[in-house]
Order: sequence, then structure tokens, then C-alpha cells
Amino acid sequence: MKERTVILKKNRDKPIRQRHHWIFSGAVQSLPDFEDGDILPVTSSAGEFLGSAYFNRKSAIIGRMLCFDGTPPLKSIEQRLLVAIALRRDLVEPASTAQRLVNGEGDGLPGLVVDRYGDVLVIQVATLGMEKLKPVILGHLISTLSPRSIYEKSDLPIRREEGLPEFEGHLYGEDVESVEIQEYGLRFLVEFRRSQKTGFYLDLREMRRLVRSIAKGRRVLNCFCYTGGFSVAALAGGATFVDSVDSSEPALSLAKRNLALNGFPGIENRLVVADAFEFLRRDLPLYDFIILDPPAFAKKKMDVVPACRGYKDINRLALSKMGPRGLLLTLSCSHFVDEPLFQQVVFQAAAEAARGVRIIQRHHLALDHPVNLYHPESEYLKGFLLYVE
Ligand code: SAH
Repeated sequence: MKERTVILKKNRDKPIRQRHHWIFSGAVQSLPDFEDGDILPVTSSAGEFLGSAYFNRKSAIIGRMLCFDGTPPLKSIEQRLLVAIALRRDLVEPASTAQRLVNGEGDGLPGLVVDRYGDVLVIQVATLGMEKLKPVILGHLISTLSPRSIYEKSDLPIRREEGLPEFEGHLYGEDVESVEIQEYGLRFLVEFRRSQKTGFYLDLREMRRLVRSIAKGRRVLNCFCYTGGFSVAALAGGATFVDSVDSSEPALSLAKRNLALNGFPGIENRLVVADAFEFLRRDLPLYDFIILDPPAFAKKKMDVVPACRGYKDINRLALSKMGPRGLLLTLSCSHFVDEPLFQQVVFQAAAEAARGVRIIQRHHLALDHPVNLYHPESEYLKGFLLYVE
């Protein structure tokens, strides 16, 4: 029997030759009979073998490459998992007991995120192809890492485009509600149910470290604080006090526990359930250090214009509450607002607030969030540390 093969159109195979993971439906010349989620070999129109991908007709990204050579796909998945885990062991484990072990395409495993919180793993599956591979992935994770528990947090709206429902639940081992992690000597509680992302913003690890190193003696405002990561970091670095603002009550109640866990006696820290835009319009004392880490305002390309308006407003409002020689750490996690555009928006905010502003640092994504050079679409976070005259 002839092997089932996906053939790409002439002149449409260049991205795949350049190790990009996505095959758009428009690049496909012919598909064999297959079931959505199957892994199939991929060839050029001239019949040259290019690698293997899983396919789903329901998605505009019809295929996602698992390997770019003749390695059997399941073998390749195992190898990529081992390489991903080794990278974290070498570079991230000394800093924290919590790490992103697998960062999707960034680790050559499209549609999969695996985060480790001590001996608990949390996985996120975005695609049907990866959903079908879940038993294989779980098998490797269990045999390599012996976790106490595995939880799945696939509450991702993009799953609908794959014909999958959103899903969240306990998968393996003990049913654990929360764990305590350590990062550069600081302690944080992570809850899995009711959480955002997989529980904690691991991507901000190096930014928390930066905040800690420059917070001494400063009056700090942490807007969009979630469970208080930056608040704890600032206080550990000697901040005079921190006001923490978030619209989510449950997030703030965990922030309160995280502040208590790290013990900052005698320091009065306010936790405010509020819309950050509304809070910044209140009559407030001036701050010396403001952190703005809003949710992604642009979830789709068509949201970019209103999103930029939101970023400009929140940055202008923050600048209006800033004392002289202040610091503003401003972040954006909207993939569609790239760094030059975000810089432009912050420039407009500074001009409207009539403040002298200079960039003194650009953001650093934590080491466990690799961006595949061949697949820059996984880039999303950008930010500036600004010195405000
Ligand atoms: N900086 C955080 C992560 C921020 S996630 C950390 O270090 O962990 C974005 C947060 O913004 C979420 O906690 C969400 O509840 C909150 N949020 C969303 N819209 C908001 C609004 N309009 N005002 C205040 N908080 C908001």
C-alpha cells in the first residue's frame, strides 16, 4: 500500500524547509485520506521528503510540523522533551522550583505547554493533534520526572478552532489544589483551579528579580498585580510600601497570602480590588515606582487600534501619578502589538503627560521561554523600564 502523504504546493514549501512549524491550508496541494489529528509525512511537489506533521482540516493552520527529518515522529517528540527538560535543569532550576518545561513551538512541540511547580506538573494542550498525543506525552513526563500530580489547564478559547472543547481537570496522581514554590529565595503559593495561565507568571521571573534589585526606598504601585509577584519582589528589595491593584478578588486574596508568607513586618501594604484605569484617576499620593502589567489588550489583529488606545491611557495615567526621578516598568503581552509599536504608544503617553522619559532597560523573557529562531510567532512579551524625570 502506498504511504499516505501530504504534498505541498510548488513555491509554498519554503517556510517548512526553513523549519517553521505551521502549514497553512493554502500551501497544501493534496491531502490523502486521514482522520483529523493524524500524523502524516510531508513532501514537496517534486516528491522530496520534508518531515512529519499532525493535521486538522478544521484549522486554518492545517498542519504543525513535529520533525523536519526522517526521525519517527514519536521518537522525535521524546527527544525534544528530553532536550527541553535538560535546558531547564541547566539554566533555570538553580533559580526556581517552578519552570516552564515545554514552551510549544519554542521547544519544537507545537500545541503543548508543560509547567512544573515543584513536584506538580500542569499541562496545556492547544490542538487536536497534540490532544491525540497526550497519552504519549504523559507517559514520558511520568517516567522522566515522577511527578506527584499532573493537572491539565486547557481553558484556551483557540481550542474551539480545532473542534475541541475547553478543558480543565486533574489527570494523574494526587489531586493537588495548590503548591508553594520558591524563586530566588522568595516564596509563592500557586493555585491551579481559578488561576490564570497555568497558575503563575513564570515568564516574568527575571523582571521580578529586576524589580527587587531597584525597589529600595521607593513607594511602589503594582497595577494588574494578580497574585502579587512584583509586590513581594519589591518589598524583598526594600520598598517603603507597595499598593497592589487588581480587578480580581481571588487573585488579591492569594496576593495577601503571598505577602504574609514572605513576612514584611511593620510595612503597610494596601491591596485594592479595582479597575486599574479607575484607580489611577483617583486622588492619590505620588509614587516612585509604578509597575503596569495589564492583560493582553489585543487578542486579535483587529483589536490593535483600541488596544493601543488602552496602553496609551494607562501609561499616561501612571505617569501623572509619578514623583520626580521615578521608575515605570511598563509591559505588554499582546502578540499583535510589537515592540516598536509599543514604544510608539509609550512615547505618545509620555508626550501627553509632558514628562521627560528615557528607556533604561528593555524586558527580558525568562530563560525557560525560548523563542524558536525559525518560528518568531511565539514572541509576545515586551516591556520597558523607564526613568521619569
Ligand atoms: N503582573 C502579574 C500578572 C498580570 S496578569 C504577575 O506578576 O503575576 C493581568 C492581571 O490583570 C490579572 O490578574 C487580571 O485579573 C487583571 N486585570 C484585568 N483587567 C483589569 C483591570 N481593568 N483593572 C485591574 N486589573 C485587571
